[in-house]
Amino acid sequence: MAATTWDMGFAPEDDCDLTLSTDVLVIGGGPAAAWAAWSAATSGAKVVVVDKGYLGSSGAAAASGNGVLTVPPAERPEVLIQRYRQGNGLGNPRWIERVLECTWQSMPLLDEWGYKFPRENGEPARKSFYGPEYMRVIRRRLLALGVRILDQSPALELLVDRDGVVAGARGLQRQENRRYSVRAGAVVLATGGCSFLSNALGCNVNTGDASLMAVEAGAELSSMEFSAQYAISSAVNATATRGVPYAWATYTDADGNDLGGIEGGRRRDDFLATALLKGPVFARLDKATPDIRAVIEKSHFIAFLPLRKAGIDPYTQRFPVTLVLEGTVRGVGGVRLTSDDCAASVPGLYAAGDAATREFLAGAASGGGGPNAAWAISSGRWAGAGAARFALALRSDASDRPLRATGQVGLRPAEGKQKFDSDAIIKGVQDELFPLDKNYFRTGVGLITSLQKLDSLWREVRCTPRVDDPRSIERSRTAAALVAAGRWTYRAGLERRETRSLNRRTDFPHTDPAQRHYQVTGGLDEIWIRREPVENIPDYSHSAVA
Ligand SMILES: Cc1cc2nc3c(=O)[nH]c(=O)nc-3n(C[C@H](O)[C@H](O)[C@H](O)COP(=O)(O)OP(=O)(O)OC[C@H]3O[C@@H](n4cnc5c(N)ncnc54)[C@H](O)[C@@H]3O)c2cc1C
Repeated sequence: MAATTWDMGFAPEDDCDLTLSTDVLVIGGGPAAAWAAWSAATSGAKVVVVDKGYLGSSGAAAASGNGVLTVPPAERPEVLIQRYRQGNGLGNPRWIERVLECTWQSMPLLDEWGYKFPRENGEPARKSFYGPEYMRVIRRRLLALGVRILDQSPALELLVDRDGVVAGARGLQRQENRRYSVRAGAVVLATGGCSFLSNALGCNVNTGDASLMAVEAGAELSSMEFSAQYAISSAVNATATRGVPYAWATYTDADGNDLGGIEGGRRRDDFLATALLKGPVFARLDKATPDIRAVIEKSHFIAFLPLRKAGIDPYTQRFPVTLVLEGTVRGVGGVRLTSDDCAASVPGLYAAGDAATREFLAGAASGGGGPNAAWAISSGRWAGAGAARFALALRSDASDRPLRATGQVGLRPAEGKQKFDSDAIIKGVQDELFPLDKNYFRTGVGLITSLQKLDSLWREVRCTPRVDDPRSIERSRTAAALVAAGRWTYRAGLERRETRSLNRRTDFPHTDPAQRHYQVTGGLDEIWIRREPVENIPDYSHSAVA
């Protein structure tokens, strides 16, 4: 790789060994990116996809099975109300309805492309998919449509034209050891959420890159405070974050005492976090009948692997459990959407899946267990179509625009400033974001203390990154993205002085009806927060549906 300095003010292709031009560039390689690419290609656009990993096995969905919120029309009114109520006042019924309809219409396409759903009463049961097979089928479809896929090619920064219109991206091709630049009429960000390298299943590629790239290009984020999403895992190997088997668990402390935590027939949501703050917690899946065991072992085999390896029988023996941060992956926050086609707040930029805010569908709560998979499909389709429309309208003007690279942090040397240690920065961010008493349960004082540390890490990533080889460039940029995501998350959490779903403030333990608004955030050195009203919609919160 040429040792060129990545300085601002140069032509973005100057130091690139691979330069491409396309109508739509999709950044990401999970379901949201794949559906966006399909939608853009079938709208008549030329499409390039760049994935940090391999489109087919990379990301949160490809790592395991996914339930999908597919709802037949007759059941929609009831599901809509349930979803809306779960969102704690911040969901949007019109968007929930759109997602339900788009997902329902999209699932049969997978049969056409060769996905084999199990059959119930002779009909395909399209309620979930097996991640790797789902992604394999879509990849094959994209290649058949002529979509160009660059695997192992993380995007690092966006390109904009003189008017600030997003017009492509630059990145690295790890295996070829070279830089690339893609000029595009429009860009879809679909890089997933941010789990802060916690090792949550499939999520270590989800480092919040879209948020940093978007903000540097002038876009905004929303609902970043609803990000304290943690998943249960055995502590034997805290990466197999599959929650379903634990529905049949009993929990005990170190002395074998039952931990209870049951209220109104179900465990309180914060039961496990509360217990873990007091000491080790052990689970035993002793409520699973032989029939249930057969089902959960097949569908969630990955959760059992570490236990088997350690010689633990999870049905008869107690094993330690923990909570692993998933951040915005099964949380809510991401790039703010300004239109039905998932446009961001700068022209030429669109966002889909976990890279985008899921507030309209999930409100303030987690969208795991079905909604998020439906959102990846729907938002992917809308963003891809929107980007194609934007790009095709520009077509003749798009390819020879003068462009500027927008990356500001973790990419280029800052004169006279020393090199920062990416691994130390990442560890510093994790020290503030992982602990349950800092993030799961938040207080104003705790958030301010963490923000001081994160701000100091930010000043460090404003110094000179190590750019000796592709790995160190990527690592520097990842460190910058994680610090940025941590700061947006905690600033938004500090500003929301109430407990609402995934923003649990022990100093403000109640939900405050006066704070039923979205929080939009952005900024790099100076982070700002703005309130955005919830669309004036019928209030379903008192509906009779349970
Ligand atoms: C353990 C687990 C179980 C889950 N189960 C369910 C479920 O049952 N139902 C449900 O609805 N949801 C579930 N979810 C959530 C669901 O998996 C996600 O919402 C969904 O995968 C989002 O799709 P996505 O395409 O936005 O992101 P991902 O699937 O995470 O894909 C992101 C992609 O972007 C790529 N990428 C990242 N950064 C860059 C970059 N800089 N340049 C290029 N590419 C980049 C990654 O390599 C990856 O391919 C689960 C999540 C987890 C972690």
